[in-house]
Amino acid sequence: MRALVCDGPERVALREVATPEPGPGEVLVRVTVALTCATDFKLLRRGHPKFPFPLTLGHEFAGAVESAGEGAGFQAGDRVTSSVSGPCGVCTECRAGRENLCDTAFERPLFGAFADFLLVPRRIVKNGLRRIPQGLADEAAALLDPLASVVHGLGRVKTAVDGGVLIVGTGPIAAMLFFLLRGKEEERERDKIGGVRRVVVAGRRETRFGFFLERGASVACIAPSSRETEAGAAALPLFTFKENPPLPERADDRRGEGARNPRSRSFPLVIDTTGDPGVISALPALAADGGTVLLFAGLPSGAGVSLDAHAVHYREVSIVGSFHYTPREADEALALLSRGAVPAAEMVSAHRPLADWRAAFDLARSGTAMKVGLVP
Ligand SMILES: [Zn+2]
Ligand SMILES: [Zn+2]
Repeated sequence: MRALVCDGPERVALREVATPEPGPGEVLVRVTVALTCATDFKLLRRGHPKFPFPLTLGHEFAGAVESAGEGAGFQAGDRVTSSVSGPCGVCTECRAGRENLCDTAFERPLFGAFADFLLVPRRIVKNGLRRIPQGLADEAAALLDPLASVVHGLGRVKTAVDGGVLIVGTGPIAAMLFFLLRGKEEERERDKIGGVRRVVVAGRRETRFGFFLERGASVACIAPSSRETEAGAAALPLFTFKENPPLPERADDRRGEGARNPRSRSFPLVIDTTGDPGVISALPALAADGGTVLLFAGLPSGAGVSLDAHAVHYREVSIVGSFHYTPREADEALALLSRGAVPAAEMVSAHRPLADWRAAFDLARSGTAMKVGLVP
């Protein structure tokens, strides 16, 4: 079978490798589609603390069971998708329902979907592998992993009924956050609960703004270099909001720091999907009093961020982290996908044969497509 194997940073090739045989409790999946993800690009660039080389890339996928080991509980032909991790189910974190923090959940992460076949290890078969519900397309089901992370992130914070949300970053995670937050707004309108949540998406790549503007979000530009703003923060705000329609002015916007950036302190919830310390530093100033800054994106180990401790104390701005997801959140993601809460066709807007993986990566990295589906 073919597999896109990465031996080290920027050393990757589509190779012929032996097709694995599933042992007891394991499942061999014939991949029908695997999606590009920034995690794979990051791995390719600099490796990942949880996933050592050599490694076959690809972890968002759907397929059909080719063969199953004894006691796996799956049959040949079952359509499946999966979580990436295999929580142990017995440690303190697992028993407390925080399987995302299980120490051993990533001992054998499920990478290797950019290939003809993928062997699912026993623990992931038990806690991560899922049959795709009838009526849900493979490609939509392949969004389980990123969407489950988004579900977990939103579960970590309060989403105010009538407050604004600032999503920082314009990639696929930002898009999924947008779809879920917007969806909730529609539910409220339908149920006449009242209150309108404004969603603003901020980024550096104006090529991606169109995606969000077409779908009713407002956008904000982030200045090209965060270092630039450190030198002259007062003169040059990091964020420039392009209103669509304008944000409501706050009374205190007319004085003090608000006068320099009239849109500051507007958002009960600010979500970072960039992992850029320079950008993160600027976020407490944009959070409303009592608001929350959610650090969704991962930062490299040892990364430090300078934060406005004054805002954390006097304005009670909370800084909250979010990592991965639990098996329950994976179920919820699959249910959301079945309900069409995240339109898969808008998320996966291009397809390429597995052999053209380089073109697919370029397409996704250029921002032309949110995600590209690689088809073996
Ligand atoms: Zn991913
Ligand atoms: Zn555990």
